[in-house]
Amino acid sequence: MSEETLSNLSREDRSFEPPAELAASANVTAEAYERASSDREAFWAEAAERLDWSQTWDRVLDWDDPPFAKWFTGGTLNAAYNCVDRHVEAGNGDRVALHWVGEPADDKRTITYADLQAEVCRAANALLALGVEAGDRVAIYMPMLPETVVAMLACARIGAPHTVVFGGFSSDALATRLVDCEAKVVVTADGGYRRGAPSALKPAVDEARTKASGDGFDVEHVLVVRRTGQDVDWDDDVDVWWHEAVDGASSEHEAQPFDAEHPLYVMYTSGTTGKPKGILHTTGGYLTGTSYTHHAVFDLKPETDVYWCTADVGWVTGHSYMVYGPLANGATQVMYEGTPDSPHRGRWWEIIQDYGVTIFYTAPTAIRTFMKQGREIPDGFDLSSLRLLGSVGESINPEAYMWYREVIGGERCPIVDTWWQTETGQIMISPLPGVTAGKPGSAMTPLPGISVDVVNDDGESVPHGSGGYLVVKEPWPAMLRTLWGDDDRFKETYWSRFRKQGFYFAGDGAKLDDDGDIWLLGRVDDVMNVSGHRLSTTEIESALVSHPKVAEAAVVGAADETTGQAVCAFVILRDSAGDGGDDIVEELRRHVQKEIGAIAKPRQIMVVPELPKTRSGKIMRRLLKDVAEHREVGDVTTLADSTVMDLISKKEGSGSGDDEG
Ligand code: ATP
Ligand code: MG
Repeated sequence: MSEETLSNLSREDRSFEPPAELAASANVTAEAYERASSDREAFWAEAAERLDWSQTWDRVLDWDDPPFAKWFTGGTLNAAYNCVDRHVEAGNGDRVALHWVGEPADDKRTITYADLQAEVCRAANALLALGVEAGDRVAIYMPMLPETVVAMLACARIGAPHTVVFGGFSSDALATRLVDCEAKVVVTADGGYRRGAPSALKPAVDEARTKASGDGFDVEHVLVVRRTGQDVDWDDDVDVWWHEAVDGASSEHEAQPFDAEHPLYVMYTSGTTGKPKGILHTTGGYLTGTSYTHHAVFDLKPETDVYWCTADVGWVTGHSYMVYGPLANGATQVMYEGTPDSPHRGRWWEIIQDYGVTIFYTAPTAIRTFMKQGREIPDGFDLSSLRLLGSVGESINPEAYMWYREVIGGERCPIVDTWWQTETGQIMISPLPGVTAGKPGSAMTPLPGISVDVVNDDGESVPHGSGGYLVVKEPWPAMLRTLWGDDDRFKETYWSRFRKQGFYFAGDGAKLDDDGDIWLLGRVDDVMNVSGHRLSTTEIESALVSHPKVAEAAVVGAADETTGQAVCAFVILRDSAGDGGDDIVEELRRHVQKEIGAIAKPRQIMVVPELPKTRSGKIMRRLLKDVAEHREVGDVTTLADSTVMDLISKKEGSGSGDDEG
């Protein structure tokens, strides 16, 4: 075996130049890369100047005590002022900030920046009246409502770090986070609408509060938005209605500046690889990193664009690219409460048509679901307003990229495949839509001001055409500052693998193609070792998805007596393929062999109705590995649908699709 850390199996030759019109008026041009590499700190200082500071910083970056970074030290600012008030003061109070769309048809609200300012001030005053002070933590456990954004901004305004907990999480998950963060107040709703029905939230808060008390921690107040009108249990000492506390509060509140390093929020990772980690983000660097990258990567023109990021606000994407980045940039955006298939499977496309969405940002898991259902559904809507598409969360398989480009983007929209993490806070690797060509499946190059590399076991750069570990070599403004309350775990998790070199190691494998462009290859923990070849999950999955009958695939390595590990694949077929036919397993094995070589040919392929995914939609390969190795399935607490593993295990038990050879 060569010294490559990861074999480079697949070849992809397609490439799309940036559209000429977009390139001609792009927010950021090729010159930014040079400027950033000649003086990185000056580059980020200039990006920081796009914000309004009460006090300018003394020092751009303090990296005296790595890995603990401080950005813009001595500077002070208010995050909510930057996201709201300054747009009103600039004369844009009438601009729509949020086109909110509820799941029930005709349930809509339009919120201008002036409306948002008044509401955030009221909510800030209400939180202060409940005794919340700067530095206190507030948990937000909400559906996708305007009040959710208002609550986040109100916290930021008074310097109370928020921790948003995804509304689909159980009371246990909520309780753990309440205790870990010691949240003084919880903001929630009676419920929200999902899949056509009201779904209660308040009971989970009540349970979580009881659990937290059992652990010796008491939440002081619960602020409850009335959304569905469901019956709720009420504790007069603790529970407060939002419409009573907030609607009656003053809409005047003067935002105080906070230190650039004042904590803005704690966000727990999605838990794809294990127990979620509490990531701490602070104020000045985070706002700089998210607003600059949102401006650069999405080429936002705030006067004319309608931007829509479909991520739930319970994930970092909702924080960086629905709340802080876009609002700091004065964007007009769509926010949707419900699921893509309610009341019909074309709901998203209908929203794009109705609001004239121009920039659309979603996840590969959603794109593959739409591929499975067939293009007739989006084809029934007018998507001609779109001018730019984005992808985040996992590698986008080349076939899904092509479908997204052709069916949704009408072959005219560039796609930005954005690689980043809860930890990085901001997009790190992505094409710039007016500069970089797009290759299906590649996140392309690090953004200006970001220093990323692919290295071998010894931390040396791998040559073009080879794979290895993805590392970040220099600090960046929106980087995590630590894990909440656990500096040691922070150092150990991210900074120990390449301690000598001082690199941040993200956990992901990647390869450089012959042009030096970056292809993400999945988690290094998932890398398979087959007869001495180290194979990535992503490339084999992409080969499977390139078969016309396949919509989604997940690949894991299972122990094998002869080869060490063997490739085991789980696939979901497209609706149009029916059951795939009698030969489907052999057909797919041959297809992988033809696409990338005999070494990658799966030993076993199982056709399954669903794959195990986290609540943010990422495939959880470690659970499939348990199935492939006939073990009891491990920790499923972050799994979106716990019945999925039963379905898959049953299939495995019946031996269906199993094929030795
Ligand atoms: P945990 O760290 O708790 O296991 P997680 O890593 O899934 O959860 P996130 O921070 O939400 O939590 O996800 C970041 C990860 O998502 C990245 O490390 C990478 O593996 C994957 N990812 C995100 N965007 C892309 C992309 N454009 N291409 C490939 N992978 C991506
Ligand atoms: Mg992670």
